[in-house]
Amino acid sequence: MTSHPLLEQLNDKQRAAVGAPERHMLVLAGAGSGKTRVLVHRIAWLMQELRLSPYSIMAVTFTNKAAAEMRGRVEELMGSSTRAMWIGTFHGLAHRLLRAHYMDVDLPQNFQILDSDDQQRMLKRIMRSLNLDEKRWSPKQAQWFINAKKDEGLRPHHLDGLDFNERTYKEIYDAYQVACDRAGLVDFAELLLRAHELLRDNRIVREHYQRRFRHILVDEFQDTNAIQYAWVKLLSGAGSDKEHENFVTIVGDDDQSIYGWRGAKIENIHQFTLDFPAVETIRLEQNYRSTNTILSAANSVIANNSDRLGKELWTEGGMGEPIDLYAAYNELDEARYISSQIEAWHEQGNALQDVALLYRSNAQSRVLEEALLHSRIPYRIYGGLRFFDRQEVKDALAYLRLLANRDDDAALERVINTPTRGIGARTLDIVREGARQRGTSLWQAARQLATEKVLTGRAANAVLAFIDLIEQLEDETGEYSLGRQVDTVIKSSGLMAMYQAEKGEKAETRVENLKELVNACDNFDQLERVEEEELSPLNGFLAHAALESGDEQADEHQDAVQLMTLHSAKGLEFPLVFMCGVEEGLFPSQQSLDEAGRLAEERRLCYVGMTRAMQKLVISYAEQRRVYGQEKLHTPSRFIAEIPSENVHHVRMQSRRSFSTETPSYGRFHTGASHEAFEESGFQLGQRVRHVKFGEGTVLNYEGSGPQSRIQVNFDDLGSKWLVVAYARLERC
Ligand code: ATP
Ligand code: MG
Repeated sequence: MTSHPLLEQLNDKQRAAVGAPERHMLVLAGAGSGKTRVLVHRIAWLMQELRLSPYSIMAVTFTNKAAAEMRGRVEELMGSSTRAMWIGTFHGLAHRLLRAHYMDVDLPQNFQILDSDDQQRMLKRIMRSLNLDEKRWSPKQAQWFINAKKDEGLRPHHLDGLDFNERTYKEIYDAYQVACDRAGLVDFAELLLRAHELLRDNRIVREHYQRRFRHILVDEFQDTNAIQYAWVKLLSGAGSDKEHENFVTIVGDDDQSIYGWRGAKIENIHQFTLDFPAVETIRLEQNYRSTNTILSAANSVIANNSDRLGKELWTEGGMGEPIDLYAAYNELDEARYISSQIEAWHEQGNALQDVALLYRSNAQSRVLEEALLHSRIPYRIYGGLRFFDRQEVKDALAYLRLLANRDDDAALERVINTPTRGIGARTLDIVREGARQRGTSLWQAARQLATEKVLTGRAANAVLAFIDLIEQLEDETGEYSLGRQVDTVIKSSGLMAMYQAEKGEKAETRVENLKELVNACDNFDQLERVEEEELSPLNGFLAHAALESGDEQADEHQDAVQLMTLHSAKGLEFPLVFMCGVEEGLFPSQQSLDEAGRLAEERRLCYVGMTRAMQKLVISYAEQRRVYGQEKLHTPSRFIAEIPSENVHHVRMQSRRSFSTETPSYGRFHTGASHEAFEESGFQLGQRVRHVKFGEGTVLNYEGSGPQSRIQVNFDDLGSKWLVVAYARLERC
């Protein structure tokens, strides 16, 4: 058996898992121990050695990117196509099921996916129609409530024993669901829930898939929620009396469970061993990713959590370099330190794509981005600022959604008056009220109210013009290729002209993004195919836009540093990793400080972050940071104190100045300047200042001393400028 090529480059335990006879398996192991690698090799093994068809395999990963990578790796190992294999995220697979069986779940064929943003808008509207006081009831809370219930598999009628608040949220949930169903809209949680109900309630469909998927394999299992677990169970047929049983392999690490706040349950790992018969548990203990220093630091941090399933992790890798710990003056200083380190790394001939900047919250990226831009270091952002999340792109998509489905209320709300076409808030209110009374979609209500002359004069004309526009667009572009269709829609709707008329860099980016959307559509046909179902290209693309994590946003081929939240770094690895903003109140986050469970989850997130690093880890924190417009003093995170001191190298200000020998530029302190001399001038890094002509801005840098001293300010409207302090007459804000 050991001579088989698929078993080469595996250790004994990995080999045992990959080459095991068909059975249920749990691979429980720490970070970087080759869990994902085992999963990939196992899939190839099933097909090559056990002669299973790709058709009978379903693999679930955590992101679309991971799914694409997994498919690529399996095909590489096999040397053949695996198109018939179902591989994707739970959401992606659920979507696929619903598309194939839309009639069985009472959805229109052209149902659309409602993202989180649209969901909130929709809730806002519904709460208004229920006459709920906006100050008292928040759409965000309602959203949490509804999604959490759906993740537990609960419909409004399942909810009882509620207190007053919950009863109101239940009422909102009810009204929201009616509105979604009417409009043919499905939110993310609904994808999972509805697919689950389909499998649970429809015996024919269930048995079809049970017969089909002989093997189900799930990566990152520690982050599955109740409904996802129920899904796996149903598909496997575990606990039912059906004739054939399918085999489930789950891989996971309880120490990397970081989605508890979104309903994920670590207990599912344990539950799996109870619900499934004769589960073989395999533990992997050798880490192949990180240096000994990084690994022992990460192990020490996670050791502070209790209730762990317990795993050993060791590496044959050398000690490697110590972890650099940088105490920054403020977030700007932190960002500039990081970019200078990246420059140094790059100058030594290393690739930028081997560098990751990880942060706790998305808002932290802006300052980092600014520093990278100044240093002309190309970067790419994963998650957060997703291409398909950008305002202008969503506007364009909303037009497309309306073309696909007139009853898509969320889309209509978004664009009926974008660009402005004289349909005011009052008209919209009348339309909403009309829709509510008649139990129709906004589109139908708008049309009826305008033709029945409930709406009159300018309002009626404006509404009818909008309706005409959409109808005409459909007539005109129906036969076009997707790219041309989108191009026409963007132009004829006035969206492009609206953004072109706006001034400034932001508007330019928006116009570029709209153009990029057309590119995305042009490329789409070749890229994304849902194999069994015949979706129109437009519907296929809209689903793709809603589900895809937007990885295409940057030029894939450019060597670029990667920025992402700690959450989205899960499963990935990089030679050089920066973890920034490691401060109490930020990481662990403020909210988590009050709850032991949340704090443990933050610590797991820290473990995930540290174990992404292969060669070198740099941790930084800022003593001062602007949070929501306020300067706050911060102390280093407790997680830093949990790292053994022998693994850490403290980087001091002095060593920062060693970067400062050449001409002054962003990211470098000029020789001769000192913090003290600068502070005597009355300004500080990161401080907000006002200039008579240039307006308000933030102090980024300084150089020189005495009358020659200059200060660099990033003005909110104009960008950054160097000014001579003596003449600039800056005021502190
Ligand atoms: P995580 O918990 O972070 O998801 P993981 O357990 O899934 O990690 P992998 O990503 O599969 O770990 O593997 C970590 C790294 O170690 C990868 O670069 C992988 O190629 C390498 N690796 C795994 N097993 C071996 C092995 N037997 N020999 C050499 N390299 C290996
Ligand atoms: Mg993995």
